[in-house]
Amino acid sequence: MSSWWLAEQSDPLPRVRVDEPDVEIVGAGITGVSAALTLAHAGQRVRVHDAREVAGGASGRNGGFALRGGTMAYDKAREWLGRDQARAYWRLTEEYLDRLASLAGDALRRVGSLRVAADDEERAEIRTEYEALREDGFDAEWRTEAVGGRFPAAIFHPDDAAIQPARLVRRLAAQAAADGVEIVEHHRVESLEQLEAERVLVATDGYPSGLLGELEGLIIPTRGQMLATEPIAERLFDCPHYGRHGFDYWQQLPDGRITAGGFRDFALDSEFTDAEETTPAIQGALESFVADLAGRPLRVERRWAGIFGLVLDFLPVVGPLPGNDRAWVAGGYSGHGNVLGFMCGDLVARALLGETHDVLTLFDPVRLARAV
Ligand SMILES: Cc1cc2nc3c(=O)[nH]c(=O)nc-3n(C[C@H](O)[C@H](O)[C@H](O)COP(=O)(O)OP(=O)(O)OC[C@H]3O[C@@H](n4cnc5c(N)ncnc54)[C@H](O)[C@@H]3O)c2cc1C
Repeated sequence: MSSWWLAEQSDPLPRVRVDEPDVEIVGAGITGVSAALTLAHAGQRVRVHDAREVAGGASGRNGGFALRGGTMAYDKAREWLGRDQARAYWRLTEEYLDRLASLAGDALRRVGSLRVAADDEERAEIRTEYEALREDGFDAEWRTEAVGGRFPAAIFHPDDAAIQPARLVRRLAAQAAADGVEIVEHHRVESLEQLEAERVLVATDGYPSGLLGELEGLIIPTRGQMLATEPIAERLFDCPHYGRHGFDYWQQLPDGRITAGGFRDFALDSEFTDAEETTPAIQGALESFVADLAGRPLRVERRWAGIFGLVLDFLPVVGPLPGNDRAWVAGGYSGHGNVLGFMCGDLVARALLGETHDVLTLFDPVRLARAV
């Protein structure tokens, strides 16, 4: 079943045809659409293909959290990347979140986000992250009364946002079409030889495209499941919440319904899959969790699944495909791709135009091929 977000009505995209594209992009999620916008603004002729519709992949099926930062906690990023690189990476995501907010209209609400600790052990972990953020000059607030005392502590990130992700990506796609980008929906690209452009970008994140050569499968398809309840009258949550190391995430929408996702760790083996379907075990866990949050069982109005691409070092994969002088890749956000996808789509487009950003040295696809 498609997601709560994708079920929202939208206007059809303007019809655009591009002859002899300079760049063809596979994948019309946040990454592909962001890249298309940047390339079109630079005067490139761009065609985007998607096997489904715009935002039909994870970009229209996710939790709707637009968070600054990388996938790992900030203190871990400092350990793994060094303080300067971690700080620069986080700052860059903040800039892209601001830019996304300026384009999103009513698809984005700047309400902040709460990373909650489920128990005392996690409290100690998030305290370490909070202190690292503050030491490096980032805005963050320590909360000890998170969600009416239900959780021992939380970090409030004041500039994060809640998004209606399908509306957001459709809006960006409409803008790209208005800027002259051709978007071909319901067309699966079976091989790169099918494409005519001199440069190709594969922006398929966790969905196996068959186009990534030796990187295929190294961005590991991973399933996330979600549900949306009936609307409720009481306002329980003002902003997106996530806890248990990001395994659980939920928010309350403006109309009062709760969307929740996660609990992958209840059946980790079966969730490393590209089968976009829900399962009773995880849906049952989500339903009980939401009933617990609300203090009573709530009617579930929609259940869905989506696939994201997991990378073992939690860094995106952005750059030329190893051994291929025509094709580039941008993806592998490990479940954190709303802002990162927007950012990496722009950065890869700029790199295609010859303007490489320092952060891309961290995201080099070659590291995945070497690690095999
Ligand atoms: C349940 C769930 C919850 C999540 N929650 C969050 C969250 O709250 N915050 C956050 O930041 N991130 C979240 N994520 C991750 C985020 O959704 C993704 O990282 C991001 O949407 C990836 O965007 P993308 O454009 O790179 O790929 P996608 O949006 O997945 O798009 C890839 C597209 O490629 C197409 N495709 C694949 N192969 C081919 C082919 N051969 N030919 C043509 N088309 C092809 C697919 O049809 C698909 O539409 C979540 C993911 C899931 C699944």
